[in-house]
Amino acid sequence: MPTRAARRTTTQRGLGHVHQQRVAGLLRALEDGSPCWWCTRPMYRDAGRNFDRRQLQGDHSKARAMGGVLTDRLLHAKCNAERGDGSRDHLRPALTGQPVNAADETEDRARWCLMSW
Ligand SMILES: [Zn+2]
Repeated sequence: MPTRAARRTTTQRGLGHVHQQRVAGLLRALEDGSPCWWCTRPMYRDAGRNFDRRQLQGDHSKARAMGGVLTDRLLHAKCNAERGDGSRDHLRPALTGQPVNAADETEDRARWCLMSW
């Protein structure tokens, strides 16, 4: 059955029960106001106190795309999304003091497209 291989469960992607348990444990252990690894802004168990007003998410310090399987820290939901596959870790605001500007890349690409006439 070829369609079965394409449909991967959250568990197969490493985001199943174990991940959820890890996140719950990390949230319990979180000291409110601890700095986010990505942006250094404070993180809170209470979603409403986070800058993006969203629940913190579990992250893999070794990105899943790089074979990481261990959920070992929390990040803001927005920061987790910005981090993506971990290929831009060196650009994180905690290091550069500036927001990661994904829009620039899109703009660059748009410029290239404009030049293709
Ligand atoms: Zn953050």
